Amino acid sequence: MKIRFLSFFIFTALLLSCSKKNNKKTLIAERDTKIVSISYKDTIQKEFIANSFDFPVGIPNAKGYYNAQKFQKNYHLGDDWNAVTGGNTDLGDPIYTIANGYVKETRDYGGGWGNVIRILHFLPNEKIVESLYAHCDTILTTQDKWITKGTKIGTIGTANGAYYAHLHFEIREDITLPLGNGYSKNSKGYVDPTDFIKKHRIVQDER
Ligand SMILES: [Zn+2]
Repeated sequence: MKIRFLSFFIFTALLLSCSKKNNKKTLIAERDTKIVSISYKDTIQKEFIANSFDFPVGIPNAKGYYNAQKFQKNYHLGDDWNAVTGGNTDLGDPIYTIANGYVKETRDYGGGWGNVIRILHFLPNEKIVESLYAHCDTILTTQDKWITKGTKIGTIGTANGAYYAHLHFEIREDITLPLGNGYSKNSKGYVDPTDFIKKHRIVQDER
């Protein structure tokens, strides 16, 4: 009886220590049909840690572009980047990844979304954020790969004619959020993209 109890105890302790280790080391991002599991320290090479951020157009400072619909205006969950020249003059302009990261998804969602690119950024403090680029005319990257800041990942589009060309751009602190619909009274898990980039031009390790 005593031995059985002891082995149960050891088994439980082992199980607990394993799950604790996994929680710490394994970061999981869900997508519709697939789970991506990334072990932070084992997988990420130093050059892919997101240690600085730039704007996604007119890099590095969004030169030649303006934000036509800021975060939370009309319950918008992102920024809308447009060329200062207006209309569709920015159709086909390059979109760049804002920081080093891992391309989690590239997909044509159709409807009001069009082509969408989603990238995970692993900060030096082990925090992870997701950047999302929507309505793209073209997707110039592929999912499930590491890329560096400033890589051209796509071009500005109209979501198949749904809008004048612009980049709908989001940053999410909750990387498990579904695609959503770009507008919501509930902005939990989303951050102001412009504010975030300005505060993370160079990322300090805040641990
Ligand atoms: Zn938008």
